[in-house]
Amino acid sequence: MYNKGEWFEEIKPFSGTVAYASKNDILKVEGIGTIPGTLNGRKIILTDVLYVPELNGQLISVKNIQKTGYSVIFKYNVAVIEKNREKFEFAILNEKRQYASQFVPPKASTYFVNHSAELWHRRMGHSSNKVLKEMGLPVSESPSTFCEECVIAKQSNSPMSKGPRSREHMPMRVVHTDICGPIDPPTREGKKYFVTIVDDFSRFCEMHLLMHKSDILEVFKLFIKQNPDLYKIRCDNAKEYVSGELARYYKKSGVIMDPAPPYSPPLNGVAERELTDIF
Ligand SMILES: [Zn+2]
Repeated sequence: MYNKGEWFEEIKPFSGTVAYASKNDILKVEGIGTIPGTLNGRKIILTDVLYVPELNGQLISVKNIQKTGYSVIFKYNVAVIEKNREKFEFAILNEKRQYASQFVPPKASTYFVNHSAELWHRRMGHSSNKVLKEMGLPVSESPSTFCEECVIAKQSNSPMSKGPRSREHMPMRVVHTDICGPIDPPTREGKKYFVTIVDDFSRFCEMHLLMHKSDILEVFKLFIKQNPDLYKIRCDNAKEYVSGELARYYKKSGVIMDPAPPYSPPLNGVAERELTDIF
């Protein structure tokens, strides 16, 4: 059992617990893997090593060494491992009366520089635990881990209020408008865009073909002249509507422009629906 994740050459997620010292002392196992290293110049690979971050030090089980067919002999304060003719010193009794091994783990492997599950979550583009587990990376199961970026990224629009939007009582006082294009192929005259103007009261619709988006200026100049009662134009945030000469022209003629907030086409619903009808 090892507490240092960066020593592992390979590690797979593992969920379980081990009882340590006393039965009540339960520690969480977070992975299982292999640790290569050296002992007095001899290459040794420890297999099935449990990764127990809360463990206070490293522990090797004599029973597990024996399971692999080696014997462990404790003699003259030295633990010797033996199999067939192979024989080597593994641990020496220290002043704390513990058998301490001189096993030297590798330098921190690049694979597991930091065992922080949150770091891996970020490195992998804020992947879910499921995906991280599949890749054999550590996952954080503690509910206390909170990723602010994930919360922000998963925010969604609240539904657009259907609200009591009052309908105009007279024709040609409020109109809805939207612009569409470029459309390929253009008309024979080379017109690629069209603009719709829908009356709020009657849903009467005008459509004008345009060569350029900026041509809506002329369309609206004429429209305002023909409809002296017009006082409000509901549109989206297209720059042709909200900036430049057209905006100045509205102001001069006493017409209010009422652009829907950006990225909220439902609020320009009448004009947007008219477009779908046209197609
Ligand atoms: Zn995240």
